[in-house]
Formats: sequence, C-alpha cells, structure tokens
Amino acid sequence: MTRAGSTRHAWSDQWRTTIWAVVVVPPVAVCAAAALAAKGHVEVTDVGICAVMFVATLLGIEAGYHRQFAHRSFSAGPIVRSCLAGLGSMAFQGSVLWWAGVHRTHHRHADREGDPHSPLHGLLHAHVGWLFRNLDPPDWRRRARDLFRDGVARWATRLYFTFVIVGFALPALMGASVRGSWQGFVSGLLWGGLVRMFLVNHVIWSINSICHAYGSRPYATRDRSANNPWLALPSLGFSWHNNHHAFPRSAVNSHERWQLDLSGLFIQLLGMLGLAWSVRKSPAATLRLRRARPVDATNPVVARAEGA
Ligand SMILES: [Zn+2]
Ligand SMILES: [Zn+2]
Repeated sequence: MTRAGSTRHAWSDQWRTTIWAVVVVPPVAVCAAAALAAKGHVEVTDVGICAVMFVATLLGIEAGYHRQFAHRSFSAGPIVRSCLAGLGSMAFQGSVLWWAGVHRTHHRHADREGDPHSPLHGLLHAHVGWLFRNLDPPDWRRRARDLFRDGVARWATRLYFTFVIVGFALPALMGASVRGSWQGFVSGLLWGGLVRMFLVNHVIWSINSICHAYGSRPYATRDRSANNPWLALPSLGFSWHNNHHAFPRSAVNSHERWQLDLSGLFIQLLGMLGLAWSVRKSPAATLRLRRARPVDATNPVVARAEGA
C-alpha cells in the first residue's frame, strides 16, 4: 500500500467511531425523549429550544456550508462567513472543508461512478451507509483546494469540535436559564442537542437519498436529482434539488412563486441588510430555456448561467 493510501485509511478509521456515535446516539436520545414526553416530562420551552437550534444549525449547513462555501453563490464578509461556518459546524455534519469537498465531488459525479452517496447503490447507502463505506472519497481534497486557502474555512475546521461542543452546551444552558434548574439543563441538552441533531441529520441525508430517487424533475439534468415540495419547509429549501442541480451556483433554489426556499430568502435578507452581496440568481428567461431542453454544458447560455 502506498503511503498516501495508508494515510487515507488511517484518516477514515479515526473517524469511524465518531460516525457510529453520530448515527446511533441521536435515535436513542429521541426514544428517551419520547418516553419522557409520554410521562409528561416535556415543556414548551424544550420544543422551542429544539426548534431554534434546528433552524440555526440547518441554516449554517444550507446557507453556509452549502450555498456559501461549497458553491460560492454569494459573497459576504469574514464575520458573516465565520458565523455561518460556526453554526454549520454545530450541526455535527463534519468540518466545512470536508463537507464542501465531498459535496463538490457529489456534483461532479452525481449518480455516476465516483458519487459518494448515490441511491444507485441503494437508498440506505445514499442516506447513511456511505458514511461508513465512503467517508474519504478520492478527490474531495482536490475539489476543496480553494477552501484550504480560505482563512475562515481553515479556522472553522480547526475549531470544529469546539463548535460541536458549543452546539450541545448552548441549548443546555438555554434550558437551565429558562427553567432555572438542572432538569432544564438536561432537557435542553436532550431536545436542543440530541433530538435536534437527529432531525438535522435525517433532513440533510434525505436530500442525498430521497431527492435523488423520488420527486419531480422539471430540468433534464444528467443526474437523478428531483424536487420534493413536502421537504421544502423542514430542509429550508434544500429539497428543490433538481432546481439546484440544474443551477448549482444560484443562491436561490425557488424557481416558482410557490416554491418555498427559506435559505434563499435568508441570503436575500442578508443582501438587503448589506451583509451579503453578489447574490447569484438565475434569470427567469434562462430558467425557461433550461426547462425546454436537456442540460448541455457546451451550450453557451447554460455555461453563462453557471458562471463557467
Ligand atoms: Zn444532489
Ligand atoms: Zn450543491
């Protein structure tokens, strides 16, 4: 085995225990929370803390990790980018460097050989199995090369586990301060930490599995990406996935008035406040043109829309 190969395996092995914890512990916590709730041991504040942490960390992933770092679909200053990277890290979905590199690899090979999490290898593989078998896709580092030179991405990656701990400590402290007791601390940790982590994990993983297997495909992309309206609200707009694969560099996934994309609205709000700029949005005429014909990277209109 080459030195590079052995290094890669050592890196994967080191993370495998963490992956087991990420996959197994949250469902156990959900069962415990449900059992406690059945006995009346749940308060509105617990659910509220869970909801706040869910929205904050999922925005960190979708507006931050995904649309800012992986696709560079808008520009922002170092404070906003650091906040987004920090919130995304609190979701416990991996460091921003790894996440963005793996996601770019997914786009490069979507639903073909080399895609780290395509449902062509089974829905369970796409949802969670790939984390055990495909944690270190060969070219994720190369695809994230620009991010390895990005000070904010490097800083957030260095502090990744600190942010993960903050992601659990914060809801616990919120629970303790609202309820003024150690029970508040424990239920804040349970609901805002572990139950929230379960929900965020499975929403993001559903994009890799369900949104590449079922749903509508208004754009004839080369992959099997699909739109799923019922997942739009919980995924904060990530589930307009066919729209996204057709226009990966757009900061806004909503292509119709009725398509709810809360992350896109959040980025546009940042733009209105002067905290984001160069927010990429595909013009309506390009959307109509792309719907009418299959994707062709050599098409100059499409190439222009992609910013290629
Ligand atoms: Zn995809
Ligand atoms: Zn993407």
